[in-house]
Amino acid sequence: MDIHFDCTQCGRCCHNLKLPLSVDEAKRWAKNGHEVQLLIEATPAYEVPERGSPERYRFDRSFPAMSGSVPIRVSVIVVAAFEGACPHLLQDMRCGAYETRPTVCRIYPAEVSPRAQLVPAQKACPPGAWLPDQPLLLSDGVIADNELSLLIDAHRAASLADVELKQQACRSLGIASAAFANEGYALFSLLPDIVDEVFANRLLAPLEDAEAAQWQFVTNRQPTLIMLETVEATSKVISRGDTYIGFFEDDI
Ligand code: SF4
Ligand code: SF4
Repeated sequence: MDIHFDCTQCGRCCHNLKLPLSVDEAKRWAKNGHEVQLLIEATPAYEVPERGSPERYRFDRSFPAMSGSVPIRVSVIVVAAFEGACPHLLQDMRCGAYETRPTVCRIYPAEVSPRAQLVPAQKACPPGAWLPDQPLLLSDGVIADNELSLLIDAHRAASLADVELKQQACRSLGIASAAFANEGYALFSLLPDIVDEVFANRLLAPLEDAEAAQWQFVTNRQPTLIMLETVEATSKVISRGDTYIGFFEDDI
C-alpha cells in the first residue's frame, strides 16, 4: 500500500512529547535550559537475535548487564520532555529551531524503529496531510524519499553509537533500575546543567566488568513480579508516577 503525505504545519506533533534525542542533540537541548530525561527498560537476553532482523536493532542499541543470575539487555532512551507546546514552537506553529531541530522531528510521521509500521490514524497529522495527491512517503512499506531514508539511517546509527555513553552515564549517576520491556519505562530527569557533564567522554573511566553490573527490574504488575522472582531476577514493586511510566494500571 502507498502512503502519501505532506505536512500541513498544524503543529499538533510539537506538543506533550518525550522526543527521542541522540546524546549530541540532548546536550544542545539542555544548553538551551530545557529538560532532558532518561527512559530505561530492560529485557532478559539469553540469545543474540539474527543479524538484520528488527529485533537485532533493539538488541544492538542496548547494553549487557545482569539482574540477579539473569543476563539482561538495558535500553536507555534520551528524550526531550515537555508538556504542552515544545519550547521551540512559535505562535504561528512554525518551528523556532528549524535548522537545528532534532532528527526525529525531521523524520515524523515516518517511523524510526524497523519493528514499527506507519499507521496514519495513529499519528497526530490531520486527514488533509494524507491526501493521495501529496508526495509519496511510503511505497509498499518502503520509504520512497531518499533524503528521509538517510535521516532514519542517521538516527539509528546515532542510537548505536551512543550506547556506551548511555551505559557510562547510568553508571556515573548510580542508575541501575529498569522497567520490564514493553510494560513502561523507569524515568530519570536530568537537570539541564549536568547533561553535558554526564555525557562527557573525558570524565569516563573504562567499563571493566560492565556486563556483570547488577540491575533491578521495577514493575507495577503482579504477574511480572512473580515471573521475575521465579527466574531469580532482582525486582522491586513501583507505582506509576514521577519515576515510572507504566503502560498498565498498577495491580500490586
Ligand atoms: S523542535 Fe521544532 S519540530 Fe521539534 S517538536 Fe519542537 S517545535 Fe516541533
Ligand atoms: S502533526 Fe503532521 S501535519 Fe501537523 S505539523 Fe506535525 S508533521 Fe505536520
